[in-house]
Amino acid sequence: MALDEVKKYLRDNATLFEATLTELLKIPTISAESEHRPDMLRGAEWLADYLTKMGLPMVEVLPTVDRTSGEAKAGNPVVYAETPYVAGAPTILVYGHYDVQPVDPIELWKTPPFEPVIQNRRMYGRGTSDDKGQLITHVFATEAWMKTAGRPPLNIRFCFEGEEETSSGGLEDLLQREPQRFACDAMVVSDTCQFGPNRPAITCGLRGISYCEIELTGPNRDLHSGTFGGAVTNPVNALTRILADMIDADGRVQIPGFYDGVVELTAEEREEIRRMPFDERAFFEELEVTGTIGEKGYTTTERRWIRPTFDINGIWGGFQGEGSKTVLPAKASAKFSFRLVPNQDPEQIANATKAWIEKRLPTGVTMKFTYLHGGRGVLSSTANPFVRAAAAAVEEAFGVAPLYMRDGGSIPIIAKFAEVVNPAMLLVGLGLDMDQIHSPNESFSMDDFQKGILSSAILWEKLALVK
Ligand SMILES: [Zn+2]
Repeated sequence: MALDEVKKYLRDNATLFEATLTELLKIPTISAESEHRPDMLRGAEWLADYLTKMGLPMVEVLPTVDRTSGEAKAGNPVVYAETPYVAGAPTILVYGHYDVQPVDPIELWKTPPFEPVIQNRRMYGRGTSDDKGQLITHVFATEAWMKTAGRPPLNIRFCFEGEEETSSGGLEDLLQREPQRFACDAMVVSDTCQFGPNRPAITCGLRGISYCEIELTGPNRDLHSGTFGGAVTNPVNALTRILADMIDADGRVQIPGFYDGVVELTAEEREEIRRMPFDERAFFEELEVTGTIGEKGYTTTERRWIRPTFDINGIWGGFQGEGSKTVLPAKASAKFSFRLVPNQDPEQIANATKAWIEKRLPTGVTMKFTYLHGGRGVLSSTANPFVRAAAAAVEEAFGVAPLYMRDGGSIPIIAKFAEVVNPAMLLVGLGLDMDQIHSPNESFSMDDFQKGILSSAILWEKLALVK
C-alpha cells in the first residue's frame, strides 16, 4: 500500500528532517527589520531549492509588491510550488510563512536564536514553532509521497510567504492580482496551537485584528514641568487618560458600534467550549500572574477565543533616562490593537476609534492617527468533509481525536484567502502555548514535529478521497 511506503520513508528520514529544519532556521528571516532583506531572499531560495530537489514540477520564487502603506514598494518573495497534476482529485493549498519575529530582548535567550539546538526533544530557536518548523512538516510529508509513489494522491499548491509577521502585503497583492493561482478546495495551515500537550486540535476559528498607532502633540517643544505644568496639556497625561477610557470596568470596549457585528454563540456552542479540559489555575500559574481578568459574563477561554479585546502594545513619550528630569513632554505615542471576531470590520473599527478619540482630545493637543493593518476573523464548519478528513488524519497520527477549538490569534492573510478563494479552512496547529513564539527561547516539540509530518502524509491520502 502506498501509505505504508510513505510511512517507512518518514521513519527512515526522521533524524534527517530535524537536521534539515535547522538549516532553514539558521537563516535570520526577520521581516520587520530591513537589514534582513537579503536573508529574506535567502530563506525563499532555500525553500524553493528544497522543493525543486524533491522533484516538484513547478517551483517559483515570486517577487511581490507591498501596497499596504499606500505606496508600492518591493515586498518579500512568495515561494510557490505545485505537485504533479492528478486529474479528478481535489486541489489543496498549503500556506505557511518563512519570516520570523525579531529576537529582542536578545539577552534573555539561553541559546542564540539562529543557532537551533535540541534539548529534551524540544528544538530551541527563532521560528522553530512559528512557523518554519510547522510549515516544513507539509514539505517533508509531500517529499515522502514524491520519493515513494512519484506524487501525492491529490493536487497540492504550496504558498510560503515572507511577510506574515509584518503585513502579508506582498501576498495579499498577489492574491488580488492572480486569484486563480490560489484556487483550491481546501487550505491547509499549520501556524496555530494544539489545545495542550497530547491534545491535538483543529482550529475552527481565528480572531481578526485592527492595529493602530496614535501620536499626540502638545506644545512646540518639551517644557519645564514646574514652569508650565498644570497650565499646558501634557500629551502623555492626555494619551494615558484616553487609552484608559477605552475599556470600562466590565471589560467592555467603549467605541460606539464596536459590538454591532459580533455574533453571540449559542448556548450549545458555549457549552462545548466549557466542556474542554482547561485548568484555570495552572493557566495563570504558568504565566506567574495572580489571576485572570476580562469581559464580564465570559470565561477565560471565551475571552481568549470568541470575544473581541483591546490591548496597548507599546507606549512611549517623555523622559525615560536615568534619574529624574522635570519635563512636560511635547509628544506622546502608542501602538494599540483590537482583537476581532468574525463580522467585525477592522478598518471600520479603526475609523470609529479615531472619531471617538478626536472627541476626547483635550485643549492643546493634536492627534496623528494611523491605521497600520488589519484582518477579519475566520470561522469554518466542523461538519465540512475536508475538516472531518483532517480530524481523522490527526487522530491516526497522534493516537487521539483532535478537539475542535478556536484561536485567539490572528492570521489576517487567512481571512483574505477566505474572502477571495473561499476554501474549507483546515487549521491544523502543531504548536503549544509553551512554545514562547514571539518571545525569547522559542521552541518546538520534536515529537509533535514528527507526528505532524506523519499526520500531513496521512492527510494527503484522506483529502484525496473527499468527493
Ligand atoms: Zn506564524
